[in-house]
Amino acid sequence: MSKESGVLIIGGGIAGIQAALDVADQGVKAYLVEKTPSVGGHMAMLDKTFPTLDCSACILTPKMVDAGRHPNVELLTYSEVREVKRNGEGFQVKILKKPRYVDMSKCTGCGVCARYCPIEVADDFNAGIGVRKAIYVPFPQAVPLKYTIDEEHCIKCELCKRVCESIGAEAVNLDQVPVDVNLNVGAIIIATGYKPFDVRRKKAYGYGKYSNVLTALELERLLSAAGPTAGHIFRLSDGSIPKRVAFVQCVGSRDLHHSYPYCSRVCCMYAIKDSILLKEHIHDVDVTIFYMDIRTYGKGFEELYQRAEEEFGVHFKRGRVARIYEIPETHNLIVRAEDTETGEIIEEDFDMVILSVGLAPPDGITELSKILEIPLDEYGFIREADIKTNTISTKVQGVFVAGTALSPKDVPDSVSEASAAAMKAVTFLRRRK
Ligand SMILES: Cc1cc2nc3c(=O)[nH]c(=O)nc-3n(C[C@H](O)[C@H](O)[C@H](O)COP(=O)(O)OP(=O)(O)OC[C@H]3O[C@@H](n4cnc5c(N)ncnc54)[C@H](O)[C@@H]3O)c2cc1C
Ligand code: SF4
Ligand code: SF4
Repeated sequence: MSKESGVLIIGGGIAGIQAALDVADQGVKAYLVEKTPSVGGHMAMLDKTFPTLDCSACILTPKMVDAGRHPNVELLTYSEVREVKRNGEGFQVKILKKPRYVDMSKCTGCGVCARYCPIEVADDFNAGIGVRKAIYVPFPQAVPLKYTIDEEHCIKCELCKRVCESIGAEAVNLDQVPVDVNLNVGAIIIATGYKPFDVRRKKAYGYGKYSNVLTALELERLLSAAGPTAGHIFRLSDGSIPKRVAFVQCVGSRDLHHSYPYCSRVCCMYAIKDSILLKEHIHDVDVTIFYMDIRTYGKGFEELYQRAEEEFGVHFKRGRVARIYEIPETHNLIVRAEDTETGEIIEEDFDMVILSVGLAPPDGITELSKILEIPLDEYGFIREADIKTNTISTKVQGVFVAGTALSPKDVPDSVSEASAAAMKAVTFLRRRK
């Protein structure tokens, strides 16, 4: 298969989707490659977004649908870039389409197969809380809304195939094989995003050992009405409603010990957002945020911080948390911190602790950087051409970058960079012509 020139966008989060839509709106073909079965990225997992507390899916879903329907956007989901070669002034790209074991042209997304599939696995989309089947869509608003068989867990019982045949769709095809797609493109935009910092590396916080220590991404899924608990917040240890909740800031950020030294930029704001949402869900909950500094650098951010403190009564304690330990009988958690204003050691008892995880480079970025011959920075994010004046370009002519693939940032900044990268990529193509 060979395709005409256009722009290849790698990564289908909000940055990649926005870049694809902006390229396509200029009349240029956009090929959007996403390694998972659906576009959406991390924004699809969020409940509400700061600073306006708007519903995240209400902003993202229309863009996902537009990308799926736009005549100039070709979605290549469940696909990965395997090879990139310079071809004159453009690039010859080889993409591997992984087998879904479901024929996309026949699958109606009805979900009957998943009801009969006997295999349950931890649901990644719900941050591991709850289960999904071996044949699945990551979330109900997925684009494309086509089922995928998770090869690793499927036991090949063929129940899904039989039930799909019985409804006349005949979409399940267990004989599917990987397919190579060859494209010739004039420019590339990297939008591969981030992965949350692996909090297990901070052993002193007891994540994975104490069931009431959660990450902020897990809390986002619990807060969401479409999440595994339909928006009900309760302790995983005993199902009780938490009445004292602590947030621990800078987990994986601004710390040289098993972590990254940079500031992840979004964690202060999402903790403030989530503390307000918690108060809206549980009216008598007491929330304390343990922080080093509160960074409210964006438009409307400081105002939300003040609302959290004054209107919702969230407590802000300046203290670096040294350790969290559990009282085995109650599963309550003791947070031990040094109050950095007084130098005193404080210990407080909570029902639940939320770790405000930092943003780390995504898996597979080293391999991709080798394929594209693009250098990474000292942390593993894509290195920009010039940190002062040209952060959207890379050292390789015709290859641009947007969103958290470059460094941690929020949705508004990711979207702005995506539009800038799309403009640069299209200008690059036109100048070349
Ligand atoms: C707990 C939490 C709460 C947050 N709350 C907010 C908030 O309220 N407001 C806000 O503005 N921001 C918030 N953020 C930040 C927000 O998640 C990011 O700003 C946003 O998701 C960045 O979008 P992105 O497209 O750059 O990256 P991502 O969302 O990470 O998307 C990247 C996409 O690329 C895909 N990909 C990766 N590698 C490859 C590859 N090699 N090939 C193909 N595809 C690939 C991934 O599968 C993914 O779909 C929050 C973050 C966290 C952790
Ligand atoms: S594979 Fe078949 S049963 Fe499953 S969602 Fe698609 S059409 Fe429905
Ligand atoms: S063949 Fe695999 S996906 Fe289909 S029902 Fe059996 S275990 Fe589930």
